[in-house]
Amino acid sequence: MPSFVITEKCDGCKGQEKTACMYICPHDLMTLDTERMKAHNQEPEQCWECYNCVKICPQQAIEVRAYADFAPLGASVIPLRGTDTIMWTVKFRNGTLKRFKFPINMRPDGITDPYAGMPEANFDDIKKPGFFNFAID
Ligand code: SF4
Ligand code: SF4
Repeated sequence: MPSFVITEKCDGCKGQEKTACMYICPHDLMTLDTERMKAHNQEPEQCWECYNCVKICPQQAIEVRAYADFAPLGASVIPLRGTDTIMWTVKFRNGTLKRFKFPINMRPDGITDPYAGMPEANFDDIKKPGFFNFAID
């Protein structure tokens, strides 16, 4: 289910022109009510549920209702970013808390090479069994 903002927690990123959630959303869904200084998802039905806004919000004011295959029904899943880690807190319906901490990518933007160390692509392989694509000839 799409992201939503807990308005009591949102501080409008302290009046910045472009809030953190507006900056990060790949679908430009987040917008700020500049009178109330509260953000909201302006087109929830378009939300990819990618969690980018959830992870970047400095106030932990954004949630996505998780599907049952990812978190138990009724649980909330809240991240807290540190300088080199991200901690996920899962709060179950009965109030039980579980926390999971993971290292985050510390490399500067733009240097990741997803094909580093991989062999060069051989396009003749596309015609072999086990590969799938449109047959041109
Ligand atoms: S990132 Fe969080 S605190 Fe900032 S405007 Fe969005 S919801 Fe509010
Ligand atoms: S979950 Fe992703 S697509 Fe949905 S509002 Fe947040 S950043 Fe945008």
